[in-house]
Amino acid sequence: MIEVRGLRKEYDGVVAVDGISFKVEKGEIFALLGPNGAGKTTTIKAILGLINYEGEISINGMNVVERGKEVKKKIGYLPESVAFYDNLTALQTLQFFAELKGIKDADLMKLLKEVGLEKDANRKVGGFSKGMLQRLGLAQCLLGEPELLILDEPTTGLDAVGAYEVRNKIRELNERGVTILLSSHILSEVQELSHRVAIMNKGKIIAIDTVENLSKKLEIQPKLRLELQRPSNRIVNLVKEIKSVKDVKVDGNILEISCPPSAKLAIINAIEEAGIKIIDFKTVEPTLEEIFIKMVKEDE
Ligand code: ATP
Repeated sequence: MIEVRGLRKEYDGVVAVDGISFKVEKGEIFALLGPNGAGKTTTIKAILGLINYEGEISINGMNVVERGKEVKKKIGYLPESVAFYDNLTALQTLQFFAELKGIKDADLMKLLKEVGLEKDANRKVGGFSKGMLQRLGLAQCLLGEPELLILDEPTTGLDAVGAYEVRNKIRELNERGVTILLSSHILSEVQELSHRVAIMNKGKIIAIDTVENLSKKLEIQPKLRLELQRPSNRIVNLVKEIKSVKDVKVDGNILEISCPPSAKLAIINAIEEAGIKIIDFKTVEPTLEEIFIKMVKEDE
Protein backbone atom coordinates (compact mmCIF):
# COMPACT_ATOMS: atom_id res chain seq x y z
CA MET A 1 0.00 0.00 0.00
CA ILE A 2 2.88 2.35 0.81
CA GLU A 3 6.19 2.13 -0.99
CA VAL A 4 9.10 4.31 0.11
CA ARG A 5 12.24 4.21 -2.02
CA GLY A 6 15.49 5.94 -1.14
CA LEU A 7 13.86 8.61 1.05
CA ARG A 8 16.36 11.24 2.17
CA LYS A 9 15.72 14.52 3.95
CA GLU A 10 18.20 17.08 5.14
CA TYR A 11 17.38 20.14 7.29
CA ASP A 12 20.08 22.83 7.14
CA GLY A 13 22.90 20.31 6.94
CA VAL A 14 21.29 17.88 9.43
CA VAL A 15 20.40 14.58 7.81
CA ALA A 16 17.03 13.66 9.34
CA VAL A 17 16.36 10.64 7.10
CA ASP A 18 19.21 8.96 5.30
CA GLY A 19 18.06 7.02 2.25
CA ILE A 20 15.50 4.60 3.66
CA SER A 21 13.29 2.17 1.74
CA PHE A 22 10.40 0.06 2.96
CA LYS A 23 6.94 -1.19 2.03
CA VAL A 24 3.75 -1.33 4.06
CA GLU A 25 1.38 -4.05 2.84
CA LYS A 26 -2.37 -3.61 2.62
CA GLY A 27 -4.10 -4.66 5.84
CA GLU A 28 -1.10 -4.58 8.14
CA ILE A 29 -0.20 -2.55 11.20
CA PHE A 30 3.32 -1.38 10.53
CA ALA A 31 5.31 0.52 13.15
CA LEU A 32 8.21 2.92 12.87
CA LEU A 33 10.06 2.59 16.13
CA GLY A 34 13.03 4.62 17.25
CA PRO A 35 14.47 6.98 19.84
CA ASN A 36 13.87 10.75 19.71
CA GLY A 37 15.31 12.28 16.58
CA ALA A 38 15.50 8.94 14.72
CA GLY A 39 13.57 10.38 11.77
CA LYS A 40 10.10 8.91 12.29
CA THR A 41 8.10 12.13 12.05
CA THR A 42 10.12 13.28 9.04
CA THR A 43 9.33 9.98 7.30
CA ILE A 44 5.62 10.41 8.04
CA LYS A 45 5.61 14.00 6.84
CA ALA A 46 7.26 12.92 3.59
CA ILE A 47 4.67 10.17 3.06
CA LEU A 48 1.94 12.75 3.56
CA GLY A 49 3.59 15.12 1.09
CA LEU A 50 4.00 17.81 3.77
CA ILE A 51 7.73 18.36 3.10
CA ASN A 52 9.94 18.10 0.06
CA TYR A 53 12.50 15.29 -0.05
CA GLU A 54 14.73 13.16 -2.24
CA GLY A 55 13.51 9.71 -3.23
CA GLU A 56 10.16 8.30 -4.27
CA ILE A 57 7.04 7.54 -2.31
CA SER A 58 3.87 5.99 -3.65
CA ILE A 59 0.58 5.01 -2.10
CA ASN A 60 -1.48 2.42 -3.95
CA GLY A 61 0.91 2.90 -6.84
CA MET A 62 0.28 6.67 -7.00
CA ASN A 63 3.21 9.02 -6.55
CA VAL A 64 2.44 11.21 -3.51
CA VAL A 65 3.95 14.32 -5.09
CA GLU A 66 2.37 14.01 -8.53
CA ARG A 67 -1.04 12.83 -7.32
CA GLY A 68 -1.07 14.37 -3.85
CA LYS A 69 -4.74 15.40 -3.84
CA GLU A 70 -6.02 11.98 -4.85
CA VAL A 71 -3.68 10.21 -2.46
CA LYS A 72 -4.63 12.36 0.53
CA LYS A 73 -8.29 11.41 0.14
CA LYS A 74 -7.34 7.87 1.06
CA ILE A 75 -5.37 8.81 4.15
CA GLY A 76 -6.36 9.73 7.69
CA TYR A 77 -3.58 11.46 9.63
CA LEU A 78 -3.21 11.93 13.37
CA PRO A 79 -0.31 14.31 14.07
CA GLU A 80 1.93 13.97 17.12
CA SER A 81 0.09 16.74 18.94
CA VAL A 82 -3.46 17.51 17.90
CA ALA A 83 -4.58 21.13 17.97
CA PHE A 84 -8.17 22.27 17.64
CA TYR A 85 -9.99 25.56 18.10
CA ASP A 86 -10.93 25.85 21.79
CA ASN A 87 -14.16 27.68 21.03
CA LEU A 88 -15.62 25.04 18.74
CA THR A 89 -17.58 22.10 20.09
CA ALA A 90 -16.55 18.54 19.22
CA LEU A 91 -19.30 18.38 16.60
CA GLN A 92 -18.38 21.77 15.10
CA THR A 93 -14.73 20.67 14.98
CA LEU A 94 -15.66 17.64 12.90
CA GLN A 95 -17.93 19.78 10.70
CA PHE A 96 -14.98 22.10 10.10
CA PHE A 97 -12.65 19.26 9.11
CA ALA A 98 -15.33 17.58 6.99
CA GLU A 99 -15.69 20.83 5.04
CA LEU A 100 -11.93 21.12 4.66
CA LYS A 101 -11.78 17.60 3.29
CA GLY A 102 -14.78 18.22 1.03
CA ILE A 103 -16.84 15.48 2.69
CA LYS A 104 -20.56 16.24 2.59
CA ASP A 105 -22.42 13.21 3.81
CA ALA A 106 -20.43 12.09 6.85
CA ASP A 107 -22.44 10.92 9.87
CA LEU A 108 -20.55 12.99 12.43
CA MET A 109 -22.51 11.83 15.47
CA LYS A 110 -21.77 8.22 14.50
CA LEU A 111 -18.08 9.10 14.33
CA LEU A 112 -18.19 10.76 17.76
CA LYS A 113 -19.96 7.70 19.13
CA GLU A 114 -17.28 5.50 17.65
CA VAL A 115 -14.60 7.25 19.69
CA GLY A 116 -16.78 7.49 22.82
CA LEU A 117 -17.46 11.23 22.62
CA GLU A 118 -21.15 11.26 21.72
CA LYS A 119 -22.12 12.73 25.11
CA ASP A 120 -19.56 15.50 24.65
CA ALA A 121 -20.62 16.42 21.10
CA ASN A 122 -21.83 19.88 22.11
CA ARG A 123 -19.07 20.70 24.59
CA LYS A 124 -16.33 23.13 23.63
CA VAL A 125 -13.03 21.32 23.04
CA GLY A 126 -11.17 23.94 25.12
CA GLY A 127 -12.36 22.03 28.17
CA PHE A 128 -11.37 18.58 26.87
CA SER A 129 -8.74 16.39 28.54
CA LYS A 130 -5.71 15.19 26.55
CA GLY A 131 -7.37 11.78 26.11
CA MET A 132 -10.59 13.33 24.79
CA LEU A 133 -8.61 15.51 22.37
CA GLN A 134 -6.74 12.47 21.12
CA ARG A 135 -10.02 10.62 20.58
CA LEU A 136 -11.41 13.62 18.72
CA GLY A 137 -8.20 13.54 16.68
CA LEU A 138 -8.93 9.93 15.80
CA ALA A 139 -12.50 10.83 14.80
CA GLN A 140 -11.10 13.58 12.56
CA CYS A 141 -8.74 10.98 11.04
CA LEU A 142 -11.64 8.67 10.27
CA LEU A 143 -13.60 11.26 8.28
CA GLY A 144 -14.17 9.92 4.79
CA GLU A 145 -13.47 6.32 5.84
CA PRO A 146 -9.81 6.25 4.78
CA GLU A 147 -8.14 2.97 3.80
CA LEU A 148 -4.91 4.07 5.41
CA LEU A 149 -4.31 5.69 8.79
CA ILE A 150 -1.02 7.34 9.64
CA LEU A 151 -0.70 7.86 13.38
CA ASP A 152 2.27 9.75 14.81
CA GLU A 153 2.81 8.69 18.44
CA PRO A 154 -0.92 8.01 18.94
CA THR A 155 -0.82 7.42 22.71
CA THR A 156 1.78 9.97 23.80
CA GLY A 157 0.61 11.95 26.82
CA LEU A 158 -2.36 9.70 27.53
CA ASP A 159 -2.93 7.99 30.86
CA ALA A 160 -3.08 4.19 31.02
CA VAL A 161 -6.82 4.00 30.36
CA GLY A 162 -6.67 6.52 27.51
CA ALA A 163 -3.77 4.67 25.87
CA TYR A 164 -5.56 1.35 26.26
CA GLU A 165 -8.69 2.74 24.58
CA VAL A 166 -6.74 4.19 21.67
CA ARG A 167 -4.85 0.91 21.17
CA ASN A 168 -8.12 -1.01 21.14
CA LYS A 169 -9.54 1.38 18.57
CA ILE A 170 -6.48 0.97 16.36
CA ARG A 171 -6.81 -2.82 16.51
CA GLU A 172 -10.52 -2.69 15.79
CA LEU A 173 -10.02 -0.43 12.76
CA ASN A 174 -7.35 -2.76 11.45
CA GLU A 175 -9.68 -5.74 11.85
CA ARG A 176 -12.12 -3.83 9.65
CA GLY A 177 -9.45 -3.73 6.95
CA VAL A 178 -7.78 -0.36 7.55
CA THR A 179 -4.01 -0.36 6.94
CA ILE A 180 -2.12 1.41 9.72
CA LEU A 181 1.28 3.04 9.82
CA LEU A 182 2.19 4.27 13.27
CA SER A 183 5.23 5.74 14.89
CA SER A 184 6.09 5.19 18.52
CA HIS A 185 8.90 4.99 20.99
CA ILE A 186 6.78 2.89 23.34
CA LEU A 187 8.17 -0.57 22.82
CA SER A 188 5.42 -2.54 24.55
CA GLU A 189 2.80 -0.74 22.48
CA VAL A 190 4.52 -1.57 19.22
CA GLN A 191 5.03 -5.17 20.30
CA GLU A 192 1.37 -5.51 21.21
CA LEU A 193 -0.09 -3.83 18.15
CA SER A 194 2.04 -4.20 15.09
CA HIS A 195 2.50 -6.99 12.59
CA ARG A 196 5.87 -5.66 11.45
CA VAL A 197 8.25 -3.07 12.76
CA ALA A 198 11.01 -0.94 11.26
CA ILE A 199 13.57 0.08 13.86
CA MET A 200 15.01 3.50 13.02
CA ASN A 201 18.12 5.09 14.43
CA LYS A 202 19.85 8.26 13.26
CA GLY A 203 17.84 8.50 10.06
CA LYS A 204 18.39 4.90 8.99
CA ILE A 205 16.36 1.70 9.23
CA ILE A 206 18.55 -0.73 11.14
CA ALA A 207 16.09 -3.63 11.14
CA ILE A 208 12.74 -4.44 9.62
CA ASP A 209 10.70 -7.56 10.35
CA THR A 210 8.17 -9.14 12.69
CA VAL A 211 9.07 -9.06 16.38
CA GLU A 212 9.33 -12.85 16.32
CA ASN A 213 11.76 -12.94 13.41
CA LEU A 214 13.87 -10.12 14.83
CA SER A 215 14.34 -12.02 18.09
CA LYS A 216 15.29 -15.17 16.16
CA LYS A 217 17.84 -13.28 14.07
CA LEU A 218 19.41 -11.73 17.15
CA GLU A 219 19.34 -15.04 18.96
CA ILE A 220 17.35 -13.58 21.81
CA GLN A 221 15.72 -16.61 23.35
CA PRO A 222 12.59 -17.00 25.41
CA LYS A 223 13.31 -17.13 29.15
CA LEU A 224 12.19 -19.72 31.64
CA ARG A 225 10.40 -18.15 34.60
CA LEU A 226 10.08 -20.30 37.72
CA GLU A 227 8.27 -19.50 40.92
CA LEU A 228 9.84 -21.42 43.79
CA GLN A 229 8.63 -21.98 47.30
CA ARG A 230 12.04 -21.26 48.87
CA PRO A 231 14.69 -19.96 46.50
CA SER A 232 18.20 -19.87 47.97
CA ASN A 233 21.71 -18.99 46.81
CA ARG A 234 22.46 -22.70 46.72
CA ILE A 235 19.66 -23.30 44.22
CA VAL A 236 20.66 -20.30 42.08
CA ASN A 237 24.24 -21.59 41.92
CA LEU A 238 22.99 -25.05 41.09
CA VAL A 239 21.00 -23.72 38.14
CA LYS A 240 23.90 -21.56 36.97
CA GLU A 241 26.09 -24.66 36.79
CA ILE A 242 23.74 -26.43 34.39
CA LYS A 243 25.26 -26.55 30.93
CA SER A 244 23.86 -23.98 28.44
CA VAL A 245 22.29 -21.78 31.17
CA LYS A 246 23.43 -18.26 30.26
CA ASP A 247 22.04 -16.13 33.06
CA VAL A 248 19.86 -16.37 36.16
CA LYS A 249 18.06 -13.38 37.65
CA VAL A 250 16.33 -13.58 41.03
CA ASP A 251 13.38 -11.41 42.02
CA GLY A 252 11.76 -12.52 45.29
CA ASN A 253 10.53 -16.06 44.71
CA ILE A 254 10.97 -15.83 40.95
CA LEU A 255 13.96 -17.12 38.99
CA GLU A 256 14.27 -15.85 35.42
CA ILE A 257 16.61 -18.10 33.50
CA SER A 258 18.12 -17.39 30.08
CA CYS A 259 18.66 -20.74 28.43
CA PRO A 260 17.87 -22.65 25.23
CA PRO A 261 14.53 -24.49 25.29
CA SER A 262 16.38 -27.83 25.43
CA ALA A 263 17.76 -26.99 28.90
CA LYS A 264 14.34 -26.54 30.54
CA LEU A 265 13.82 -30.11 31.63
CA ALA A 266 17.30 -30.41 33.15
CA ILE A 267 16.70 -27.23 35.18
CA ILE A 268 13.32 -28.36 36.51
CA ASN A 269 14.68 -31.81 37.40
CA ALA A 270 17.71 -30.34 39.20
CA ILE A 271 15.54 -28.05 41.34
CA GLU A 272 13.12 -30.82 42.26
CA GLU A 273 15.95 -33.21 43.10
CA ALA A 274 17.35 -30.55 45.44
CA GLY A 275 14.02 -30.77 47.33
CA ILE A 276 12.71 -27.32 46.33
CA LYS A 277 9.08 -27.08 45.34
CA ILE A 278 8.23 -25.37 42.02
CA ILE A 279 4.95 -23.46 42.42
CA ASP A 280 4.65 -22.27 38.84
CA PHE A 281 6.64 -22.06 35.63
CA LYS A 282 6.23 -20.43 32.26
CA THR A 283 8.16 -19.37 29.20
CA VAL A 284 8.51 -15.63 28.63
CA GLU A 285 8.89 -14.48 25.03
CA PRO A 286 11.63 -11.94 24.23
CA THR A 287 10.48 -8.35 24.48
CA LEU A 288 10.89 -5.74 21.83
CA GLU A 289 12.89 -3.80 24.39
CA GLU A 290 15.61 -6.46 24.39
CA ILE A 291 15.63 -6.52 20.59
CA PHE A 292 15.66 -2.75 20.35
CA ILE A 293 18.50 -2.27 22.84
CA LYS A 294 20.61 -4.93 21.13
CA MET A 295 19.98 -3.48 17.66
CA VAL A 296 20.69 0.13 18.63
CA LYS A 297 23.85 -0.91 20.54
CA GLU A 298 25.10 -2.96 17.58
CA ASP A 299 24.35 -0.01 15.29
CA GLU A 300 26.44 2.29 17.44
P1 ATP B 1 10.69 12.25 18.02
O1 ATP B 1 10.40 10.90 18.59
O2 ATP B 1 11.46 13.12 18.96
O3 ATP B 1 9.48 12.93 17.45
P2 ATP B 1 11.55 11.52 15.36
O4 ATP B 1 12.10 10.14 15.24
O5 ATP B 1 10.16 11.74 14.93
O6 ATP B 1 11.74 12.02 16.84
P3 ATP B 1 12.27 13.66 13.59
O7 ATP B 1 11.33 14.63 14.22
O8 ATP B 1 11.92 13.14 12.25
O9 ATP B 1 12.56 12.45 14.55
O10 ATP B 1 13.69 14.36 13.53
C1 ATP B 1 14.84 13.80 12.92
C2 ATP B 1 15.98 14.80 12.94
O11 ATP B 1 15.66 15.91 12.10
C3 ATP B 1 16.29 15.38 14.30
O12 ATP B 1 17.68 15.55 14.40
C4 ATP B 1 15.59 16.72 14.29
O13 ATP B 1 16.23 17.64 15.12
C5 ATP B 1 15.71 17.12 12.83
N1 ATP B 1 14.56 17.96 12.39
C6 ATP B 1 13.27 17.57 12.32
N2 ATP B 1 12.49 18.56 11.86
C7 ATP B 1 13.30 19.64 11.65
C8 ATP B 1 13.09 20.99 11.17
N3 ATP B 1 11.89 21.41 10.80
N4 ATP B 1 14.18 21.77 11.09
C9 ATP B 1 15.41 21.34 11.43
N5 ATP B 1 15.67 20.09 11.87
C10 ATP B 1 14.64 19.24 12.00
